[in-house]
Amino acid sequence: MPKRFSTETYTQGILAGDRVVLSRAITLVESRLPSDQELAQEVINSVLPYAGHSVRIGITGVPGVGKSTFIEAFGSYIIKEQHKKLAVLAIDPSSQRSGGSILGDKTRMKSLSVNPQAFVRPSPAGKSLGGVTRSTREAIILCEAAGFDTIIVETVGVGQSETAVHAMVDFFLLLMLAGAGDELQGIKRGIMEMADAIAITKADGTNLSKARAARAEYLHALHLYPLAASGWAPQVSTCSAVEHIGLDSIWQTITAYLELTQENNYFEQKRRNQNMQWLYAAIQQGLEERFYSNQQVKEQLQNVADQVKEGHTSAFKAATELLKLV
Ligand code: GDP
Repeated sequence: MPKRFSTETYTQGILAGDRVVLSRAITLVESRLPSDQELAQEVINSVLPYAGHSVRIGITGVPGVGKSTFIEAFGSYIIKEQHKKLAVLAIDPSSQRSGGSILGDKTRMKSLSVNPQAFVRPSPAGKSLGGVTRSTREAIILCEAAGFDTIIVETVGVGQSETAVHAMVDFFLLLMLAGAGDELQGIKRGIMEMADAIAITKADGTNLSKARAARAEYLHALHLYPLAASGWAPQVSTCSAVEHIGLDSIWQTITAYLELTQENNYFEQKRRNQNMQWLYAAIQQGLEERFYSNQQVKEQLQNVADQVKEGHTSAFKAATELLKLV
């Protein structure tokens, strides 16, 4: 890891939109070293007043649905046509388990990666979902303070990470394939219910009519759900990232959502609730870290676990004793 900067250097660099400093600040929030964590919190606190002024968009879908191709095309569209500055962050806890990652490596989104109006950051490797979630939330703050007014948080629709992403964004977009069936796509009902919009991908060539049929089907399915607290009725559209079709319409949907929820105050309320959730998540994580890094806990945990396993002591009593050590 390169030498650390001072809090002021990080802060000034981030506020000046210096991508190298931003990148290193994100590396800092991803670090587990207590001294890095301490500095990271100082940096976050000092840039916090400048953060928050962005639209945060979550994008999910199964591997192969076309996430990276879509984000590459959609990202380029909003930079070029809507004059936005875009940061793309990823949540991919799979990299921890398998060593490889479902979202792939840095070679994805080649043209966005070199676009001066974009900042693409892959998921930190070797972290639990909780760890990735926390560093992504903090990375959002840093990117916003650095002047990025549109944040895309991408994740794979195969596990709990969608819920984590949903809890940190304003708008949640689900990408779906035509004709593959919900079960085949591994999309659980709960995920469809979280979506503010569904986009059927690869609506081009021979796939076009299938995509249109899928659109009608999902539209019907969504209308069976009760109206969300936001007052927003989820939209379904088709798009082709390869042919650059339907991107504008998805952007218009997001804009309409923002207009509605800013007017009825849902936007502000949701962000406040999310802040509260972040607080409790941070407390929980802090407590856990403190517990597991305690020397006495480290020395005794295995032994106590064995005793519980052998039935010599109850799990509750053992936990109480261990907690007393901290
Ligand atoms: P991801 O795993 O969700 O990130 O999916 P990718 O973006 O890597 O795309 C998976 C495959 O679908 C690739 O072979 C892409 O070329 C293809 N693909 C993605 N978008 C489109 C599209 O709009 N039209 C067509 N025909 N193919 C696409």
